[in-house]
Amino acid sequence: MSAAAEPLSASGARTPAPPDAGPPRTAGKHTVHWFRKGLRLHDNPALREGLNGAITFRCVFIIDPWFASSSNVGINKWRFLLQCLEDLDSSLRKLNSRLFVVRGQPADALPKLFREWGTTALTFEEDPEPYGRVRDHNIMSKCREVGITVTSRVSHTLYKLDKIIERNGGKAPLTYHQFQALIASMPPPPPAEAAITVQTLNGATTPLANDHDDRFGVPTLEELGFDIEGLKPPVWLGGESEALARLERHLERKAWVASFGRPKMTPQSLLASQTGLSPYLRFGCLSTRLFYYQLTELYKRVKQVRPPLSLHGQILWREFFYCAATRNPNFDRMEGNPICVQIPWEKNQEALVKWASGQTGFPWIDAIMIQLREEGWIHHLARHAVACFLTRGDLWISWEEGMKVFDELLLDADWSVNAGMWMWLSCSSFFQQFFHCYCPVRFGRKTDPNGDFIRRYIPALKNMPTRYIHEPWVAPDSVQQAARCIVGRDYPLPMVDHHKVSQINIERIKLVYSQLAKYKPQANLNSAQLQRPNVMQSSPSPTSIITSINQSNYLCAQTPDSQNTAPQIVQYKNTAVFQQPKHMQRIDSKQQQQFKQVVIVQQIQNSNIAPAAITNAPYVNGQHTRVDPMKPPTKQENYDFKNLAIRVNNYNQEYNNPEIYQNEESANEDYQTSVKNSNYGFMKPKFYLSPFPDNKALQNSNNDNKATFVVPGHNYTAADNDNNKKEKRDLIADGLMSADRDDKNSNAPNENQK
Ligand code: FAD
Repeated sequence: MSAAAEPLSASGARTPAPPDAGPPRTAGKHTVHWFRKGLRLHDNPALREGLNGAITFRCVFIIDPWFASSSNVGINKWRFLLQCLEDLDSSLRKLNSRLFVVRGQPADALPKLFREWGTTALTFEEDPEPYGRVRDHNIMSKCREVGITVTSRVSHTLYKLDKIIERNGGKAPLTYHQFQALIASMPPPPPAEAAITVQTLNGATTPLANDHDDRFGVPTLEELGFDIEGLKPPVWLGGESEALARLERHLERKAWVASFGRPKMTPQSLLASQTGLSPYLRFGCLSTRLFYYQLTELYKRVKQVRPPLSLHGQILWREFFYCAATRNPNFDRMEGNPICVQIPWEKNQEALVKWASGQTGFPWIDAIMIQLREEGWIHHLARHAVACFLTRGDLWISWEEGMKVFDELLLDADWSVNAGMWMWLSCSSFFQQFFHCYCPVRFGRKTDPNGDFIRRYIPALKNMPTRYIHEPWVAPDSVQQAARCIVGRDYPLPMVDHHKVSQINIERIKLVYSQLAKYKPQANLNSAQLQRPNVMQSSPSPTSIITSINQSNYLCAQTPDSQNTAPQIVQYKNTAVFQQPKHMQRIDSKQQQQFKQVVIVQQIQNSNIAPAAITNAPYVNGQHTRVDPMKPPTKQENYDFKNLAIRVNNYNQEYNNPEIYQNEESANEDYQTSVKNSNYGFMKPKFYLSPFPDNKALQNSNNDNKATFVVPGHNYTAADNDNNKKEKRDLIADGLMSADRDDKNSNAPNENQK
């Protein structure tokens, strides 16, 4: 524990606190509201409670050394926090009050101030994270000893997380699916409360001294010891006022809401936007509940119906991670973390530094890391790219190291979400097994085809022709000279041979999992019932995009051998049938929906959807199959896939319009919604399953029509020849394929026939 509270002076020097003022001279309620996160006056139930019947109130923010002293809080993050505090102070001024910024350990600082101010009531927003829980528990005990009442209220998360855990038999749900089911069975989250106004104060006042600014003013970055020379203007402005303005802009994007669930990824998305909210939710400048309910209202207005749970997908993912972490103090580390797979990562400080400082020699990775350092925010997919590169993709460095760098630099870094996402990305928890990794060149090229993003953050590459911008080391000398960028001198050579290391790392991950599988009872290995306790059921935000990327050719994939992946393979029931329509009809008009591919991700037993399999399921591999939309079937039974979940990537809009279809009604609202919202408007959309080689689908090449779609244990080659006729018969005999399919019509036209 550090020394007792020492208020900050404007000059940064600490002024000694005045002698204890003794117990309050006036009887009655004298409140201190302690701000930590939740830096806002709207939806602040704890403050409201504190004001209820109070004679005096003081709003305090303590610069907690746990947060402050650590060098792992970047300057952007500090600046953002100080802006939030300035904004809060200015809002409080409008209520004839002020913010009191104090430096110290809360357990020391608060009791001292309580004595000085004669405090009788303490209020704060409940902190769901383990560190905060312990800290708050200590403060509560101290307060109890001296007769101060303590009130804490939930408002950082939508739900009281303990209630979700209770409902789950005392354990945090470790699959998103389970989590959704639990909250669907609970009453909706309480609505956001109105902002505190002069009326709310009901006569309560804040005693202010003349030296308030000296003792309790919001410090500047320099006062906190930062060197601000060369600091670029902020891209994100902290504070509740900015958060509310952004929320309005966010909601104004009706089109966004209308197309919710189909996030559109453009190179522009990689840049900070005026409607981004994550840092504001992180610091609590914006209430999650306000966001949740305003989104609900807007959806109702636009669509005239009650919104599905999936509308709130992203916020619920946040909630999910908070819930998973709230009782796990080791959530942010590998060792001692019961939900984390122990992977023998390597230590390599030099490589870590190159990654963290944007010096890997892969422009896509470096540009992202530079953006992160300069601006404090990077896009979700950019996070994927760099996290994969550091861990299971290229460098084989522990996710904990990456998480720490994010924690230092990301304005929205959240203890729970950050650790959860890093575990997920590194294959350490909450995941389906990955047997591929992002290619730092192809992924970059796909996302930033012209290289504008790279040029923006890496000036050395600004003259590099687009053709080489993602792999400048292959540019001929003459091109490098003309671009005034000699690779190895003006920009680093790639630090690894991605192709080689990624193959090695994929093997390493496979090995870890095959070893893990040994600890599982063999009898269960192929069982659909078998679920790793920590396997998340689908990928977080924006799920569909990620899936699309995972299935695309800018991944380095390797087919796992079936033994190693046994624990993840879902067994098919005999009743499971793939059926094909008797009369196929392609819709070729550009106006019509066309699909690039359908990935058969999982056959589901008992309609018990397990979306886990949708992303990265190893048995996806080889199942890329061309599927065409069609007219409503005349004989419905001929068109149904039974127990099959498929993900469709829209052909025309690249990966902007993926959807999950399900042919059976499910309790899962997500699925029902996407079915309802499908472009066909069918409750049960039907598809052709046509043998169309995915890789060649977009090429005008000679197509041999030998697409393979795989059901576990069977490879079905679709070309209509004698060999595979036998195989088809086998499949039919096994009950894996319907006997009533018409082979004459089974081959979809190839791309040349379009
Ligand atoms: P939107 O997409 O508009 O989402 C709104 C809010 O929903 C976000 O502010 C966030 O609170 C929540 N959210 C969105 N995606 C997720 C998700 N996958 N999981 C949980 N909550 C989500 N998000 C954080 O808020 N804090 C983090 O520390 C964080 N660390 C991450 C680390 C890695 C390695 C990765 C891959 C992702 C991480 N994310 C984190 C999730 C996600 O990237 C960001 O929330 C998102 O990019 C924020 O952008 P936005 O404001 O446009 O959010």
